[in-house]
Amino acid sequence: MPEPVRTRTCLPRIRRLASIATAMCPRSCSSRLNGGSGYNGRMPATAPSPLTLIRNVSVFAPDALGPRQILIGGGRILWLGDAAEPAPSLPGLKIVDGAGLRAIPGLIDAHAHVTGGGGEGGFATRVPPVPLSRFTTAGVTTVVGLLGTDDLARSPGELLASVYALREQGLSAYAWCGGYHLPPATLTGSVRGDIVYLDPVIGVGELAISDHRSSQPTYDELLRIASEAHVAGMMSLKAGVLHLHLGDGPRGLALVRRALDESELPARVFHPTHVNRRKALFEEALDLARRGCRIDVTAFPVEDGEDAWSAADAWERYRASDAPCERLTISSDAGGCLPTFDAHGHLCRMEVGSSAALLQTIRELLARGHPLEQILPAFTRNVARLLRLSGKGELRVGADADLALLDDAGHLTDVMALGEWHLRAGAVRRRSAFESADGGAMDDRD
Ligand SMILES: [Zn+2]
Repeated sequence: MPEPVRTRTCLPRIRRLASIATAMCPRSCSSRLNGGSGYNGRMPATAPSPLTLIRNVSVFAPDALGPRQILIGGGRILWLGDAAEPAPSLPGLKIVDGAGLRAIPGLIDAHAHVTGGGGEGGFATRVPPVPLSRFTTAGVTTVVGLLGTDDLARSPGELLASVYALREQGLSAYAWCGGYHLPPATLTGSVRGDIVYLDPVIGVGELAISDHRSSQPTYDELLRIASEAHVAGMMSLKAGVLHLHLGDGPRGLALVRRALDESELPARVFHPTHVNRRKALFEEALDLARRGCRIDVTAFPVEDGEDAWSAADAWERYRASDAPCERLTISSDAGGCLPTFDAHGHLCRMEVGSSAALLQTIRELLARGHPLEQILPAFTRNVARLLRLSGKGELRVGADADLALLDDAGHLTDVMALGEWHLRAGAVRRRSAFESADGGAMDDRD
């Protein structure tokens, strides 16, 4: 927790920080603070952003800090002051009243099909790209894009172009290289090359295992890919993680267990996702979390009687287990199709994932009586630490100004990404170039 700050003693420092911040190009701050990805999602801007002070807001950093005021400039958090302090008098300062609101770190969605996924029911079922406001109106300020079943007609180049487009629009965006299949879809010809040479690429995924749509990778093939991710992460100071898509198959996580038993690779390299899609699979994942893996729950819809846990149920079961709290992450599968297959592999029905499912899960857990500060890390700090995004996932001095304001009911009122408002008092401020007004609907308010 930041130390209490006295205005009397800290104002000169605030003024100095503020003058530096206003002189800075708002999206060109030094990037190494944010881990190995040097570019850090920031694009050159044409005008310096104003200093903003959010007053009287209850801060969940994600730890509960109580009533605070947040000074923002140059795309960063410059000061987190006690709410009782008088507002600093700084030229051009814009003051936002946060009374009755809760400030949380912007959510990090580590599994989003930014190009649009799908295509598993024919070409006509290819999902269109996800426009900017579908993320921001869901409170997501950092996204990691990826390819899935279709890593052929959807290419790594298209994925990177979509990531760069989101960066141009003010979001922090990254990518996994590869996709479901082997050999992995890459731009440079290798997983190591993509992670080391391509700035947005932080790891490899979603390589599919225990799924009829996978390449049926062998144990040795899995080890080879994981080792490439690990070494490339060491070279580039990036996450270097193998993000694994888990299917419904009964083999579950057996390959990963064997890798932990027999190889020298650290457990953190393996990041299995969709682990709540079968109840028995979730128990396997809990065991891996105890052994050092971070496990990823998907916030997909679950029907009554289904052999799956909803994200809220999975969160509760995780918390009730003896697995360390920091090893749980939750993502949305935004833009991906959520197909249901019968026992013969025939497609029965298809839905599309949305980042809005993250906030819906947070609201569900709040409604069940869980404290916000316990809920948030799986959507913020835990993800940032796994992905080595050091300026993300927390509200603290020096962190990126990525935050969301929630009202009493857990609905979003405002979203700021890299110091710029994308949603202000419930109104969408920014949209993708070809996004219609209803494309940015406040779908988290379902
Ligand atoms: Zn998947």
